Amino acid sequence: MRYFLPLQTNSLFTSCLCIILFFLLIAQAFSDVIAEKAKWKHDAKSAYSIVHDDACDYGKEGIFQTAVPMADARDLPLGMGVIVGQCEDKASWLPNYWEDTIAVYAQNGHEIVNHSYTHASAPGWNKTKEVIESKQVIESHIDDEVTFFVFPLDQYDQATLQYLESNGYIGARAGTEPYNDRGVNIPTAAFNPFHSNFQALESNTGILRTYLNEAINKGGWALQEMHEVGTGSSWGIITPTAYESFLDFVKGRVDDGDVWMGTPSNVVKYIKTYFSSGDVSVNNNTITFATPGNVEQKYATEITVILTFDSPPNDSVYVIQDNIHLEVEQIESKEYHVHMDPTKGDAQITLGTFTVAESINQFKKTIQFNQGIVSALLPEGPYSIRLFTVNGRQVSETITGFSIDEKIHQRVNTQGLSEGFYLLDISYNGGRVCSKILLTR
Ligand SMILES: [Zn+2]
Repeated sequence: MRYFLPLQTNSLFTSCLCIILFFLLIAQAFSDVIAEKAKWKHDAKSAYSIVHDDACDYGKEGIFQTAVPMADARDLPLGMGVIVGQCEDKASWLPNYWEDTIAVYAQNGHEIVNHSYTHASAPGWNKTKEVIESKQVIESHIDDEVTFFVFPLDQYDQATLQYLESNGYIGARAGTEPYNDRGVNIPTAAFNPFHSNFQALESNTGILRTYLNEAINKGGWALQEMHEVGTGSSWGIITPTAYESFLDFVKGRVDDGDVWMGTPSNVVKYIKTYFSSGDVSVNNNTITFATPGNVEQKYATEITVILTFDSPPNDSVYVIQDNIHLEVEQIESKEYHVHMDPTKGDAQITLGTFTVAESINQFKKTIQFNQGIVSALLPEGPYSIRLFTVNGRQVSETITGFSIDEKIHQRVNTQGLSEGFYLLDISYNGGRVCSKILLTR
């Protein structure tokens, strides 16, 4: 991994590249605006998830080798239900099996879902091993928490569902009886994510499109169970050709705004945050949720808020929550989407101008970003460092410190970030600088 500031590339340093970007926000009056929560992310009509069971199992290599690359090519996130004992077995003779495959997929936005340690039938099994130890093993190899469970053979019992809930999970695909149906989930305030309905692909691939269309028509969430992608004969297998054709169909529905494809945990979080946070409203430029305190922290996530202005704003729209610029998308001349987590407080709408200001030298600061390490000369006092996308979405932790001898070195964790331009934002005693950096791998 290499990182560099394009403005400080050794002897090729040129003043025309030496720019610092500033957000200069000039508050302007704007017309009335109405806020409304979108039922699904990006205001799509429905939500859709695929979980491939039996990942790591022998004879199911197509899940990682074929399905994931095909989904990546279409920017569609998958859930992968790993049999943890099988992953461990492979790792015993394939060096870095976890790090080179599973951890990479998790970093790329796919969700590692727990499909138990041994793939035994749930009733009567060793709960500690299948539910807790398996979770710990996965989490020792990837950066994310493991929060969704899919039962082997779709068999479960009530006691295990409660056990999951008390041990760090936020949802499950529990099976077919006695409480789960095969079908589309129609979320309500009473939605129980441990009883997520689903459909399994057995042999008729035609049911894939039918099920997704049903979700679109009903405005619900379809959770599709699949297994191997290949040309063998295992249960529920789908050929690479049929799988790719189906993903093209899904991608088309996503691009049409009919479907938001999310991983199971992300969909569950969206549903719970949507229903718990209450109505959203705008008063004097401030976006407020009625009951953000009702959102349980384990479910808290960004949901899409639709802002509709009564006349097109005469400048760029910014939404700032807790000093952070939120991601804002313009949909039409008067309609904008902002993605916000209601539990992080009210947000302010501001119209403003994004301007590029002067050279780094005028601030007499030396900022370097190399191999993830930020080096800078800062005046004595507290400081904070954050990394944003160019759209103003924070993608790093906020690193705070106190400059004593003026020279600081801090590591920014950029794991999981794709290549491209980012904004490195440093607030310090007496000012703030924001420089554009290029992240390469
Ligand atoms: Zn299975």
